[in-house]
Amino acid sequence: MYDIVIIGSGLSGLQCGALLSREGYNVCILDKNNRIGGMMQSFVFDGVVFNTGLNYTESLGEGEVLYKYFKLFNLTDKLTYKQLDVTQAELITIGDKEYKIPQGHQNYIDALVSYFPDQANAIKQYVEVIGAICNSFPLYRLEPGSINYNIESPYWSKSASSYISQLTSNPYLRALMGGINILYAGVEDVSALYTHALINYSFIKSSWRIKEGGSGIANVLANEIRSNGGKILRNAEVSGIRVDDGLIKYITLSNGETVFGQKVISTIHPKTFLGLIDNGAFKNVFRKRIMDQRDSTGMFSVYVRLKKNTIRYQNYNHHIFKSSNVWTTASANWPQNCLMYTQYNYKTGEYADSIVIITYMSFDEVARWSDTIVGNRGDDYIIFKQTKAEQLIDLAATKIPGLRSAIASYSASTPLTYRDYTGSYKGSAYGIIKNCIDPERSIITSRTRVKNLFFTGQNLNMHGILGVSISSFLTCTNFVGQQYLYKKLSRC
Ligand SMILES: Cc1cc2nc3c(=O)[nH]c(=O)nc-3n(C[C@H](O)[C@H](O)[C@H](O)COP(=O)(O)OP(=O)(O)OC[C@H]3O[C@@H](n4cnc5c(N)ncnc54)[C@H](O)[C@@H]3O)c2cc1C
Repeated sequence: MYDIVIIGSGLSGLQCGALLSREGYNVCILDKNNRIGGMMQSFVFDGVVFNTGLNYTESLGEGEVLYKYFKLFNLTDKLTYKQLDVTQAELITIGDKEYKIPQGHQNYIDALVSYFPDQANAIKQYVEVIGAICNSFPLYRLEPGSINYNIESPYWSKSASSYISQLTSNPYLRALMGGINILYAGVEDVSALYTHALINYSFIKSSWRIKEGGSGIANVLANEIRSNGGKILRNAEVSGIRVDDGLIKYITLSNGETVFGQKVISTIHPKTFLGLIDNGAFKNVFRKRIMDQRDSTGMFSVYVRLKKNTIRYQNYNHHIFKSSNVWTTASANWPQNCLMYTQYNYKTGEYADSIVIITYMSFDEVARWSDTIVGNRGDDYIIFKQTKAEQLIDLAATKIPGLRSAIASYSASTPLTYRDYTGSYKGSAYGIIKNCIDPERSIITSRTRVKNLFFTGQNLNMHGILGVSISSFLTCTNFVGQQYLYKKLSRC
């Protein structure tokens, strides 16, 4: 019997596994996939390594918030970081207008004021407010005191889009403030301002690529788990969870094996989890609350291998919008926008070996193939993917001269690909939306009614490397104590 069984080897499962095995727990991680990493996994296409759910991350400068979490999880010194261009971490193109967005809060204010001199007050207020929201979260501010969040904040139940609209009527300034919302698949009037603030403020502070990619992060954590005596079982799909007297007794795998753990941490989407656990484990009201949650949209991605020495490595992200409406998750007039970036990896020199282009795609677009599996979805699916990929490349090529002729080969993925490779619910990119309408309903806590079961991962507080690291921290406090772990984190 293991002390702790963790379902899922994504970032959260590996972080919890590494920290808890270091603290002396005998842990076992189960993942349905052959590859570890979940959304953070990398794959090889045509000789090039591509990252699934990692392009860049935020606030990794010494002493900054993610730097501290990375130190806690023993990641800081084991990876190679490259900061994006300070003068232009994001390039936002709206129609034929182009805006360079720098890093550093003052640089950001100065740049936006130079574009919109008559909006200086709104711009300063925006940065002040998103900073104040971030610092109202104790696990972001990381100063001594209580780690509990106070939900009395006046910004708690505001949407990102409505707050920005209140600040300014200038459509282009609104678009720039909301312009990196692909990082949380922002939905107009729904996505919470606090999610927007945590992401925007942290990425404006500093943003970084990691040479080793998603699999590099996963491998560092997996090595620590194994060296602490923990186990990671791949191709171990959980198919059932038996509960008696309010406690998990055992877990069954689809290969018929049984796994016993005194405590269980689930990192998978709570909707998927509810399909695995015995019916009586949770009250119907909880089940309904979870099943009613709205999920973030899926993504369609094109992974391009470039011909040698054709496109220079761009040390920034390029967001392209056809119009100043940046809240574009709807399927009409597809693709309305995209995020495009050259990958940073071991081979990167002056030129890039690859480009990734991402846009939104609703699961409904691929629902007719939902009963199929990878590699066996039929010719009509292949044609669908190719048609969509060509449309997306057309949009990207309007802003990258020479892109078409630089393409050696490409592969594409749909929400179904994400569903089948990463286990994400209906291919949702970031899991449950942090909804500003009745926000407490979209918060999922790490403790559950089943006393030896804990939740963690991107569906808890927030997605992304920072959000998931905070969730992992919170879940681990249930095992090693809040004050103990908080003290450790504060010293990082
Ligand atoms: C296209 C895209 C781009 C992204 N880009 C970035 C970025 O640039 N920066 C950033 O910070 N974040 C990014 N993210 C978000 C980030 O990748 C995720 O928030 C994070 O990796 C989620 O980690 P997790 O551990 O919560 O979940 P997951 O990684 O989804 O892990 C869950 C694991 O559970 C396993 N599993 C599921 N069902 C079962 C079962 N029945 N039995 C056993 N195992 C099971 C899955 O195989 C998976 O390994 C991106 C996401 C997407 C989709």
